[in-house]
Amino acid sequence: MLPELMITVLSGGTGGAKFVQGLSRVVPAEDITVIVNTGDDLEWWGLHVSPDLDSISYALAGQLSRERGWGVEGDSFHCAEAAARLGLPTWFRLGDRDLALHLARTQLLGSGRSLGEATAEIVARFGVRSSVLPMTNQRVETRVSTAAGELNFQEYFVREHYAPTPLGVCFAGAEQASPAPGVLEALAAAQAILIAPSNPITSIGPILAIPGIRHALRAAPAPIAAVSPMVGGAAVSGPAAALMRAAGFAPSYSGVASAYSDFLDVLIADYRDAKWHDQNAALGFSTGVRVHFCDTIMTSEPSKDELARAALSSLGGALDKFCSREAVSP
Ligand code: GDP
Repeated sequence: MLPELMITVLSGGTGGAKFVQGLSRVVPAEDITVIVNTGDDLEWWGLHVSPDLDSISYALAGQLSRERGWGVEGDSFHCAEAAARLGLPTWFRLGDRDLALHLARTQLLGSGRSLGEATAEIVARFGVRSSVLPMTNQRVETRVSTAAGELNFQEYFVREHYAPTPLGVCFAGAEQASPAPGVLEALAAAQAILIAPSNPITSIGPILAIPGIRHALRAAPAPIAAVSPMVGGAAVSGPAAALMRAAGFAPSYSGVASAYSDFLDVLIADYRDAKWHDQNAALGFSTGVRVHFCDTIMTSEPSKDELARAALSSLGGALDKFCSREAVSP
């Protein structure tokens, strides 16, 4: 049964996890459905690792490492050290407790569960009350073409530390994939749709590439707001600026608005960028998207909550009751 209030979020792993943490304290966690990028998934040591699903699940379960922004808080890396001594590749780091999640997922998939079913079981075992959905149950691989050749996303991001200049991005398998069960329903039934401050090209891009999802966003009755991951003409972290340029977008909040302009109502941009707004308007930045400026940098738990409230209040209407500090749910 669908909850009475339904807030559907599209998300990657890092900026998205921080944002979802705040949101789950501002509205009842069971009212949130997160549709998560799986284009970053990889097979590692024979295990199915799904970095963005993991980060969102850990964030909602209160287990996400604050220091690293991925993996489990306080985790150790004894297995990785032993694996290195045995000659296994270790450029993709997996903590000891984190390994248990990949073992559980791989076993569930091996027993015939879909990725969506496996994810639902894992988050239920974590005690998470929100719904966490992979964008698709099929395998889609984000591939980055660079001057140094084509790499999958983890090779580009983790192994090469995003040093090669990206020339373009594709999502292998996306055209043949279909949205996971629940995804289109969560977009059609939502009272608000939020795009997390995630990489527009390699986190939100793969979700939008699954046939039917972009159309569902355009057709959704709910208002849609996105939080910009770009501040001051640069990504808050990671390679989003170079990837935005490679995809033909300005590496700025206006570029984010352009990337989503066919379905977006409101862009939440950082107040530090407000000074560019008149100039952008004069330069013809007219996507029809309303821009709402506020502090979008999530350096503390209260700042995550504040950003979630700002995103909800920018959409107004039935969501206003969640926008005051007193409204925080237990
Ligand atoms: P990934 O799957 O690890 O790439 O995770 P995401 O796509 O969800 O997050 C990466 C994006 O988050 C980057 O483009 C960052 O610029 C953005 N980001 C990280 N922290 C913050 C923050 O505190 N505020 C905002 N606005 N963006 C952030």
